[in-house]
Amino acid sequence: MEQELLKIGTIALKKAALNEEAKNFVLQNEMLFKTLKKAAYRYIGGENLDETIISIQKWNKKGFDVTTDFMGESIRNEKDADDATKEFLKLAESIRTTGINSSISLDLSHIGLLVSKELAVQNLSAICEVAKMSNQEVIISMEGTDRTDSILDIYKDTLKRHDNLGITIQAYLKRTEEDFQEMLRLTGSIRLVKGAYDTPNGMSIERGEKLDEIYLEYAEQLLAKNHKCSIASHHEKIHKETTKLINKYKPTDYVLERLLGIRNEELEDFNDNGYNCRVYIVYGTEWYLYLCNRWAEYPLNLFRGIADIVNK
Ligand SMILES: Cc1cc2nc3c(=O)[nH]c(=O)nc-3n(C[C@H](O)[C@H](O)[C@H](O)COP(=O)(O)OP(=O)(O)OC[C@H]3O[C@@H](n4cnc5c(N)ncnc54)[C@H](O)[C@@H]3O)c2cc1C
Repeated sequence: MEQELLKIGTIALKKAALNEEAKNFVLQNEMLFKTLKKAAYRYIGGENLDETIISIQKWNKKGFDVTTDFMGESIRNEKDADDATKEFLKLAESIRTTGINSSISLDLSHIGLLVSKELAVQNLSAICEVAKMSNQEVIISMEGTDRTDSILDIYKDTLKRHDNLGITIQAYLKRTEEDFQEMLRLTGSIRLVKGAYDTPNGMSIERGEKLDEIYLEYAEQLLAKNHKCSIASHHEKIHKETTKLINKYKPTDYVLERLLGIRNEELEDFNDNGYNCRVYIVYGTEWYLYLCNRWAEYPLNLFRGIADIVNK
């Protein structure tokens, strides 16, 4: 019964996230907008870069690595892709001038992938160059299966010119078995996630024990080789098992990573126990979709939302 309710909640919240009418209603209704913003602030560094720098500094002070993402994806015109790129360049420049410790994470479809591969490569290269000045990485997120090939191609190609580049790999995709071995042979860092997007039938492994096992097998290969990596998950079991692998192989170039606002107390415990931890901080004004997605992936988070709204 509970599982059934959670499933219904997930489907409804995913629908709400994609419903333009609902989104416009929220954006135009000042009261509702302000109310939901209180819940959104759990998950975002801020609506602008200045606010976000303060959030990054707070996590740095606690001993955490940070990666920062200016939220957005699936941009379909050159001007918007260039505007997003300018914001990422501003972020990279601020990281350099303030001396904060943060890499940059981004979706290639935010900086031009859906306009042309050339535009995405050009914008990505520009961001890598500025990030390199402060010795920071740029980590590419992985998107839906219709984009996997082009994202991997751009990654492999750009890595030849920019060694401060990393890629995200989705353990739930069956094709990952092959892609993973190829990525392991390259020097770039690998962020391992389970995978968030719906996929066409047969392309992915469902959530559950089998996927957890496969995820941990990939994690073991990364940690045994001390390949620069992030084990990114909100699943306590995954991070607990990972700590056993870390104790066994004693790698140095890894982080346990979570999104800001999701089970961060557990991450603080791992950090207190000496494991390298990273918080993924997103910022921007497009938080409505982001909030709906955080609720949809784990509908019990709605209760946190209600508490945030009532208590703030
Ligand atoms: C840093 C980071 C970067 C990511 N980048 C990408 C990317 O580029 N591409 C991509 O496809 N996906 C990405 N993801 C999402 C990822 O693929 C998973 O969808 C997401 O992490 C949920 O899987 P899981 O392993 O965390 O837990 P699941 O297997 O989904 O759930 C297991 C348990 O974890 C806990 N849990 C899971 N989610 C939540 C939550 N939201 N709130 C509270 N508890 C929760 C619950 O206890 C749940 O029962 C990223 C995730 C992280 C942490």
